[in-house]
Amino acid sequence: MTLLISSTPTFARDIDGKAISAKVLDEVREEVLALAGQQIYPALAVLLVGDDPASHVYVRNKLLRAKEVGIRSLEYRLPETASQAQVLELIAQLNADPTVNGILVQLPLPAPIDEQAVIHAIDPIKDVDGFHRENVGGLVQGIEVLTPCTPSGCMRLLHETCGDDLSGLHAVVIGRSNIVGKPMATLLLQANCSVSVVHSRSVDAPALCRLADIVVAAVGRPALIDASWLKPGAVVIDVGINRITSEFGNRLVGDVDYASARTVASAITPVPGGVGPMTIAYLLKNTLIASRLQRAAQARGQQPEDDLALN
Ligand code: NAD
Repeated sequence: MTLLISSTPTFARDIDGKAISAKVLDEVREEVLALAGQQIYPALAVLLVGDDPASHVYVRNKLLRAKEVGIRSLEYRLPETASQAQVLELIAQLNADPTVNGILVQLPLPAPIDEQAVIHAIDPIKDVDGFHRENVGGLVQGIEVLTPCTPSGCMRLLHETCGDDLSGLHAVVIGRSNIVGKPMATLLLQANCSVSVVHSRSVDAPALCRLADIVVAAVGRPALIDASWLKPGAVVIDVGINRITSEFGNRLVGDVDYASARTVASAITPVPGGVGPMTIAYLLKNTLIASRLQRAAQARGQQPEDDLALN
């Protein structure tokens, strides 16, 4: 598929995250079946600490999707009052358990638990969120590692929309968080895009953004980016999830003003129904990748020393 970026202003088409994530989940389901034929049953452990209602919903959805594709899931709950030592002890147990392939700790963790200490206690080869510094470093160096789920999902949306080859396109990522903006920029760079990162201290963010063929917005500000930020024909990926209250009640909106942006963009993700469903799909893909990396590491570990000497 070749990329066509139109310079004629038209209404953008929607990038259907629900349909594309269903495709990803089908791929996962197929691989799970193939692995079952070899008596391999990948398992994902999900740890939820405390009573945050949104976290409960996210965890429930993750477990539900895992079940739907046949991935074994294990749910661990600790009370709001759990200590950091208790969380670390559970992670140590899961790290040591060879039947557990992926470990996900639902964030945020209740204060005063140190999130970074918890993230870095997870064995990097089981870190299906891809937040461990070893995975972050590997991503930057272009080594195959576990990559954060939301940026991976955004890349898949871009490839489904623009084709396999993104070489030479100018991508602007708005936001520089560790979980979305920075890994997103790295993945786009690996796809041979020219990448700019726009953030809260950028001077004239709209002008920088208007240079972009691809815009990925991960800011957390409702409808910040409108048509005036976009080059005609740009492809827009809206990562933002913002809950707003208006006279029509509560609703979710992205970081992009969808109605305005679609008059200039060529394709755009709606919110909801764009990036959101991709994140869970890539969590489950990561569980399979983790299982494969672990099998490869185990096979290397079991190689007789004579064989290793030949390498
Ligand atoms: P964050 O708060 O960690 O980072 C926001 C970034 O936006 C910062 O780097 C900041 O420099 C930048 N920023 C702030 N104001 C700006 C401005 N006026 N102009 C340009 N840049 C500005 O947020 P995050 O964790 O990266 O999440 C961003 C959004 O994406 C949130 O709405 C979050 O809910 C959503 N999100 C969605 C998913 C998903 O699955 N769809 C996953 C993760 C995050």
